[in-house]
Amino acid sequence: MRLVLVGPPGAGKGTQAVFLAEHYSIPHISTGDIFRANLKSGTELGNQAKAFMDRGELVPDSVTNDMVKDRLTHDDVANGFLLDGYPRNVVQAEVLRAFLAERKTPLQAALELSIASDEIIKRLSSRRTCRACGAPSEAGATKCSSCSGADLYQREDDKEEVIARRLEVYEEQTAPIISFYRSEGILLTIPAVGTVSEITEQAITALSRLA
Ligand code: AMP
Repeated sequence: MRLVLVGPPGAGKGTQAVFLAEHYSIPHISTGDIFRANLKSGTELGNQAKAFMDRGELVPDSVTNDMVKDRLTHDDVANGFLLDGYPRNVVQAEVLRAFLAERKTPLQAALELSIASDEIIKRLSSRRTCRACGAPSEAGATKCSSCSGADLYQREDDKEEVIARRLEVYEEQTAPIISFYRSEGILLTIPAVGTVSEITEQAITALSRLA
């Protein structure tokens, strides 16, 4: 299965990606997670990305596209992959299409998680993230429930002033990829409402109808 997840920040892409990647036995490739890991370990890539991430802006395409293309040449993508947080604009979508076409492994689906914008703000401003594994938790939780119970923190870009900018960036730059994938004939849309497992089930049902 070669799949991209599309949807605004806070739609639950990261959460669903974990379950879907496990279901299809494919790697979950999150560009946000790769950038955050690089920031944490102080690499050159992390330093390049930091200022953009702190402002809720997109990291330049030149940096991001090379990083994703490199990741997609690893052995573990032989049976497919799930991209989460990429592409984030039409240029990235075109770069990805050309890269995959050259390797004769085109995308099979773009799965859109759709959600109302007032719900997004509520979810993001209350989200806390695990320092160890990066999994999200609700505000009020003190330890991560996904891993060994590590500490939680609020991502710089989940603070209210940055959320507003991330949503603007989504509308202006990322939302157009929905039409891009619709015209490619591979867009599947499901509402991102309900419990995590209900949404996963809907996603798997939608994906099972693929030709
Ligand atoms: P995310 O965890 O997907 O919300 O990403 C966090 C931040 O990483 C974004 O706000 C961007 O600054 C950066 N980022 C992640 N993916 C991309 C991408 N495909 N293109 C550009 N910047 C990205």
